[in-house]
Amino acid sequence: MSKLLIKIDANKCIGCGSCESVAESIFRVNAKGKAEVWGEGDDEQAILAAQVCPTSAIEIKNSETGEIIWPKSKQQKGGDNDEK
Ligand code: SF4
Repeated sequence: MSKLLIKIDANKCIGCGSCESVAESIFRVNAKGKAEVWGEGDDEQAILAAQVCPTSAIEIKNSETGEIIWPKSKQQKGGDNDEK
């Protein structure tokens, strides 16, 4: 998990435990009912956990390039969009 930077938005987390089910070595729901990163695991597991989160509370970045791996909606758009 060396390259991934995992951030959990506590305001979005509803404590459903899906991330913990998918990647229990990485995520756990704490006593306050919010998910937290407490261990390590495979990159694939971490990304899968972020993908199953119903509220998109988990953001995953490549710590070397800064690229946002998940959520997709936050990924930088390609060059030809025409934002003003
Ligand atoms: S899957 Fe998302 S909402 Fe559910 S506990 Fe994990 S971070 Fe929170």
